[in-house]
Amino acid sequence: MFDLKGKAAFVTGASRGIGRSVAVALAKAGADVALIGRDTAALEETLKAVQEQGRRALALKTDVTSADSMASSVAQTVKTFGKIDTLVCNAGVQKLKPFLDMKPEDWRSLISTNLEGAIITLQAVGAGMVAQKSGSVITMSSIYSFVGAPWNSIYCMTKGGLAQLSKALAVEWARYNVRVNAICPGWIETDLTRPYMQDQKAVDAGLRQIPLRRFGTPDDIGPMAVYLASDESSFVTGQSYVIDGGQIAH
Ligand code: NAD
Repeated sequence: MFDLKGKAAFVTGASRGIGRSVAVALAKAGADVALIGRDTAALEETLKAVQEQGRRALALKTDVTSADSMASSVAQTVKTFGKIDTLVCNAGVQKLKPFLDMKPEDWRSLISTNLEGAIITLQAVGAGMVAQKSGSVITMSSIYSFVGAPWNSIYCMTKGGLAQLSKALAVEWARYNVRVNAICPGWIETDLTRPYMQDQKAVDAGLRQIPLRRFGTPDDIGPMAVYLASDESSFVTGQSYVIDGGQIAH
């Protein structure tokens, strides 16, 4: 089960954190992986980790907010692997600020990466999937597509938008045998959440909200991505999968 041999994946934000871990998990399950990100040195580290699994890897410096940069990376991936079976639309940024202090550059950065970047990625990779009449798309939304959080208003808005975009595309692309699902992580320890981790009060308060009493790690996300990329999930589309230690269950 969950054998991805012969499949090619395209993972954005693969240089670190959740994206890196998902890329390696997909490779462990047998997929070749194109690694998309802005930091070449960090992408090279992920490339080595994928190759250590015996799989082919491509490290492609790409800004997801640039349609030209994305189109060129998709073309290079298809030239190398012949196709893309799995897209993990993961690149994202967060900005912690009270809503009333948000400046246009703050909300533009969140919207341009988390929403426009996703639209650019989904169009660029989705076109090939629709044409080949197969594919599995996984978007990296958040528990903040379900619940609100202070100082996170615009981030919550982008993640809610991404989850809803995933659902709409699941319906639109079902006739082409392209499935679209969202993963909605809770609090995962990465560079994105590092700023919270410096504040012991925030850490204690965070842990109190999580019934399993621990923060997640990037490796908690990979197995769900492997499942959604695999043929075992062939009847699953339009869903949001929460991985949060039970945080929003109460
Ligand atoms: P991270 O900051 O460690 O990694 C984010 C990745 O996205 C990095 O590789 C970064 O270079 C890349 N990226 C950002 N902007 C980009 C751009 N314009 N072009 C290309 N790449 C870009 O964060 P993470 O925690 O691994 O987050 C990954 C995804 O998971 C994000 O979408 C985030 O919103 C989501 N998420 C994270 C958590 C969490 O607790 N860490 C919770 C819910 C959702």
